[in-house]
Amino acid sequence: MPGFEIFGDEERKEVQDVLETGVLFRYGFDAARKGYWKARTFEEELSVRLGIKHSHLCSSGTSALSIALASCGVGAGDEVIIPPFTFVATMEAILLAGAVPVFAEIDDTLCLDPESVQNAITKRTKAVLPVHMCGAMARIDDLAAVCSSYGLILIEDACQALGATFHGKAAGTFGRVGCFSFDSVKTVTCGEGGAVVTDEEELYLKADAYADHGHDHVGNDRGLEGHGVLGSNYRISELNAAVGLAQLRKLDFMLERQRERKKWLKEALSQCPAVRFRNIPDEAGDSATFLSFFLPDEEKTRAVVKELGEAGVDGTFYWYDNKWHYIREWEHLKGMRTAAVLAADKFGVLPDYSNLHLPKSDAIISRTISMLMKLSWTQQDVDQRIEKINGVLNKFF
Ligand SMILES: *Cc1c(COP(=O)(O)O)cnc(C)c1O
Repeated sequence: MPGFEIFGDEERKEVQDVLETGVLFRYGFDAARKGYWKARTFEEELSVRLGIKHSHLCSSGTSALSIALASCGVGAGDEVIIPPFTFVATMEAILLAGAVPVFAEIDDTLCLDPESVQNAITKRTKAVLPVHMCGAMARIDDLAAVCSSYGLILIEDACQALGATFHGKAAGTFGRVGCFSFDSVKTVTCGEGGAVVTDEEELYLKADAYADHGHDHVGNDRGLEGHGVLGSNYRISELNAAVGLAQLRKLDFMLERQRERKKWLKEALSQCPAVRFRNIPDEAGDSATFLSFFLPDEEKTRAVVKELGEAGVDGTFYWYDNKWHYIREWEHLKGMRTAAVLAADKFGVLPDYSNLHLPKSDAIISRTISMLMKLSWTQQDVDQRIEKINGVLNKFF
């Protein structure tokens, strides 16, 4: 990760195809497009890859979340349970849908804790939206069981988990809808892009229409299409889809490289008695974009992170201070600083997020260090990193 590290002739060829036709629009222009349907082809190949019936490619992972919520009928006043460790997009999509993000704790998988989810359920709860963070999955079987016993909709944010599996089944295929991102720093990148995937045809048709002004995409005259639903524009362009198509075909190569590099680093780190690795419910299904581990306490973790930085170990993340990924620094949410008037705010059904306490998540994230696995690292690069990391850890433990 990220996929842009291995751009090559394959991406250039796909983009060139599109430029030669002049058709950047993903629908119609049948005669002019010379048989090139990049978005559609991406969707077909993604569905096969994930073992799911339907995929719809859209403009971003954030729009995938909005499309998923709308297609499942989650909206004004509904509560959606999410983890506090994610990307801000997850709670944004819920708020902009008029719904209420309810935060439950994470566990040592770095993802939603199924027991905490159960405790967060109220009569307003409509959906549970786990986020498979940093390339590996939540305890998805337990989360799915909670959802089915309480009659809740399961929507997966698999934006960071393309290629991850749980006992052979792909991340994003456990709930009613799964969401993916192909933004510029994800494993597979379109530059900007996302996808919603589902096994339910009716839901897929709703998503497909919602993402393009409600147009039903039936018939050849676009101006005469019907409208099943009100929608908006969350379309992807053929140029973005073309880049992603070439990238998607490299996914196995990327996973193999990440897994190999992660194995080398993990072996080295496991020599340190203070290091405890993140719990990955099915290790074999780890997409291995990151190696994440815990140190004994916050103070030592901070000190180690600082020294790793000074030693030049790049791609090291301390999420507890990170403003994109952990709720502790989401001042805009805590102060409800919004541009649009949010339905849930207007109805007075939003909790006071500034008073939120998530002690279990704090205790985990404050001791977590994640290291990004780069595709371009040679064995020698990894050996040098290991030497630097050992140098730092040996000072403390
Ligand atoms: C990247 C990401 C998103 C949003 O994807 P964009 O394509 O950047 O809009 C949503 N959730 C998570 C967990 C992400 O990492």
